[in-house]
Amino acid sequence: MVKPRQQMRSIKDELDRLVEADLWRNIHPVERVQGALVRKGKREMWNFSGNDYLGLSCHRAVLEAFAEGIDRWGGGATASRLISGSSPAHADLESRLAALKHSEAALLFGSGYAAAMGTIPALLGRDDFVVLDKLAHACLIDGARLSSATVRVFPHNDTSRLEKILRGLRAKHGSEPRILIATESVFSMDGDVAPLAELVRLRKEYDALLLLDEAHGFGVLGEQGAGLAELTGLQNDIDLQMGTLSKAAGLSGGFIATSRIMADLLIQRARSFIYSTAPPPALAHAASAAVAIICSDEGRMLRSRLQENIALLTAGGMTASPATPIIPMILGTNDRALGASAKLEQQKLLVPAIRYPTVARNTARLRISLSASHPPDAIQQLKSALQNLD
Ligand SMILES: *Cc1c(COP(=O)(O)O)cnc(C)c1O
Repeated sequence: MVKPRQQMRSIKDELDRLVEADLWRNIHPVERVQGALVRKGKREMWNFSGNDYLGLSCHRAVLEAFAEGIDRWGGGATASRLISGSSPAHADLESRLAALKHSEAALLFGSGYAAAMGTIPALLGRDDFVVLDKLAHACLIDGARLSSATVRVFPHNDTSRLEKILRGLRAKHGSEPRILIATESVFSMDGDVAPLAELVRLRKEYDALLLLDEAHGFGVLGEQGAGLAELTGLQNDIDLQMGTLSKAAGLSGGFIATSRIMADLLIQRARSFIYSTAPPPALAHAASAAVAIICSDEGRMLRSRLQENIALLTAGGMTASPATPIIPMILGTNDRALGASAKLEQQKLLVPAIRYPTVARNTARLRISLSASHPPDAIQQLKSALQNLD
């Protein structure tokens, strides 16, 4: 007898369910006009959804370095870093990053995502542990999952719960396993910051390693713009300072600033470093120019302009300490967040609605990101539009 034909799980049904739950996502082309002014469809609008915190993505000196790099080294790197893809431009960028981060070494990856995906599995094996903040970025979660280590999660910024976990792990498994605490410095969807001094204390007390993802701190916080670790004077107490060149540096690429010995381990073992073509040398050259600006007087000036914009929008409320350029407005349902975003867009203000699974269910929100390149009157427009939302 012929069995009734089984059907594979339907893709269309799966997509239909996303539409029903207001979780459908679309790609919309957005084109830069100038600075934070973009064109979406036929309309020009202010972009409050980018991470170009200092406006370096269109800074003259960065673009000139990019062009010069292409002239000197061509388009792509043509090979991975361990074959023949390492150019002097990569080495120069890595030594600048290491200097800015007060670390012995820095290692460039294709993206921040790739940095996490390569680093965590390189470091941890089956008998090890990784302890993540509940709100840690997807790349930290995915890197942790890809490693064969046991993954534990502590409630957001709750260092007493973290301590309980660490104490328990050491009591049960002894001193030998590696324990990695992985968290963000400035949280990407909430704009609040990690309790770094306390994390550093726990790292020491329980002989753990600390990975700090400074994706949104780099370029933004600290006198030199190195991030939260610099601002709090704790750069020498963090094992792995992770960052990206895709946010305040305005380009693309990720990095880990760390000790020489740890960098050596990553070079031997981080698969996203080893088995991926090196970032274009011209991009590394442009990133060196961006890093030079970040730690210069001009960088300080751009950071203070950014802080002025943050103060302008948040005067009288909603701000983290230290103030960061990520300002969430939690609205709850997907429907409300999408509605608010659409309403702002009609007023030529591009502010994304962020939904599950990027944030927890029922915490859908508008996520405003500010830049030094927003003129004050654009901020004023946003401020009054937000006040008139419902
Ligand atoms: C953007 C982001 C990353 C990924 O960096 P990319 O260079 O864009 O891949 C990692 N961590 C956090 C917290 C981020 O916001």
